[in-house]
Amino acid sequence: MSAVYVRIGEYRSKYHSDVDCPSLNGKQHTYMGQESMAEDKAKEQCLAACQHCKR
Ligand SMILES: [Zn+2]
Repeated sequence: MSAVYVRIGEYRSKYHSDVDCPSLNGKQHTYMGQESMAEDKAKEQCLAACQHCKR
């Protein structure tokens, strides 16, 4: 099972496979950090795969 990265806070709807994804690190005014979790866990939280990340 692979780990993915999500933003911390309420402004998140996607999970990212690339820790350097611009969508993961952008919007600094709402950025509160990021955390990693299993991909299955991200899906449980209704997060969708980021289209910018390339596996
Ligand atoms: Zn991404």
